[in-house]
Amino acid sequence: MALVVQKYGGSSLGTPERIRRVAERVIATRAAGHDVVVVASAMGDTTDELLDLAAGVSGAPGPARELDMLLTSGERISNALLAIAMTDLGQPACSLSGPQAGVFTTPEHGHARIVDVLPTRVRQELDRGQVVLVAGFQGLCKDTDDITTLGRGGSDTTAVAIAAALRADVCEIYTDVDGVCTADPRVVPAARLLDRVPPAQMLELAAHGAKVLMPRSVEYARRHGVRLHVRSSFTDRPGTLVADRAHPAEQEVEMEQTAVTAIAHDRGVALVSVTGVPDDPARTAKVFRVLADAEVEVGTPVHKDSRGRVDLSFTVPHGSAPAAVAALHAAVADIGFAAVTCDQRVGTVSVVGAGLCAEVTATVCETFAALRVRIGLLTTSALRITALCTQDELDRAVRALHEVFALSADHVGDHATVYAGSGRGW
Ligand code: ADP
Ligand code: ASP
Ligand code: MG
Repeated sequence: MALVVQKYGGSSLGTPERIRRVAERVIATRAAGHDVVVVASAMGDTTDELLDLAAGVSGAPGPARELDMLLTSGERISNALLAIAMTDLGQPACSLSGPQAGVFTTPEHGHARIVDVLPTRVRQELDRGQVVLVAGFQGLCKDTDDITTLGRGGSDTTAVAIAAALRADVCEIYTDVDGVCTADPRVVPAARLLDRVPPAQMLELAAHGAKVLMPRSVEYARRHGVRLHVRSSFTDRPGTLVADRAHPAEQEVEMEQTAVTAIAHDRGVALVSVTGVPDDPARTAKVFRVLADAEVEVGTPVHKDSRGRVDLSFTVPHGSAPAAVAALHAAVADIGFAAVTCDQRVGTVSVVGAGLCAEVTATVCETFAALRVRIGLLTTSALRITALCTQDELDRAVRALHEVFALSADHVGDHATVYAGSGRGW
């Protein structure tokens, strides 16, 4: 008998009928003799709809504490509905909020981090023969005694954290595609399902737009040795294991070889450029100190000299762009730069793999040249090459790179399928 944590994303829980299907799926796992803990996200686009409701009652974004109170209700609804459906199908089930399940976090509303999971109650309910349903995306900050959320897509991280705390045999992430693919199958219909992705590469993919997993969940799983398996909730296809090769010698060979695994793209970034910064390391440091203090996550910066001054360009998440620009303007006297610009109509395309070398960078640039698409910013590492272009050109660039690196499935039957969802999901 194994202990299995199963996470179901909003796209798998869009309607009452889908909730009943998921309930049946969970019961089948239970009937196979396993203990099951389920972490469910809010139904369909509920989180976005709740945000729209908040915007409808206030011109301002609203107090972060109240937004968390509002948003966490979405996960409470879907988990309770799942428990009701399971009970109706004859399986005892018990839904718990994040705090009831012992998920404790840092205090930052909207982007709290899990600091501890004390799953005493979860174990008690499992011992009573129940399927336990934990509301994802939320926790309690002990210092403030307030409910927090973990950031968009946070149920993935809840599932991994619960799996780590319970020492579960596996954490299965059920979603609306077959698993992790060579590109987003909504953009590249011929994308191939990957049966295994090394965690380091999965982290790069997730952090650069492949939202099938929240980046922090991949990090957490790697740190706590959680076996992570991404699968479709609509089929029985085997899905993708996020794992290194079992044998260390094979891992080394893999790292030595140049191989492109997948293409990720990200529409959720803005390009910020700070021009005319005095060429003094202390001033450059101030730019990044100001952004760090404003809690803005900065993508790899590019630095360009121009006669005693430097221009700094970097990506920031869309949502953080206004805060980044405001924080920099507030510090203009201290830093002494000439101007700040912010372009929201950009996106990034990332080629992710192992041992990526100059040859791969050259091929990426040649592919953009053949498309006549201008690269606004280029960063490279052994695991990833990222190019920035305008949003209009993003899909074309993803498809061309997927083609150039021959990532498509050979047979139509092997193409990844999109089963549901609006594509808006997290
Ligand atoms: P869930 O509601 O299950 O959390 P998400 O919408 O957060 O689902 O994530 C699944 C989506 O991730 C897919 O529908 C797909 O469009 C997108 N996606 C982006 N890149 C990839 C990729 N490389 N492989 C699979 N899916 C991807
Ligand atoms: N419902 C939350 C979101 O939409 C959390 C999640 O789906 O993982 O971001
Ligand atoms: Mg998600």
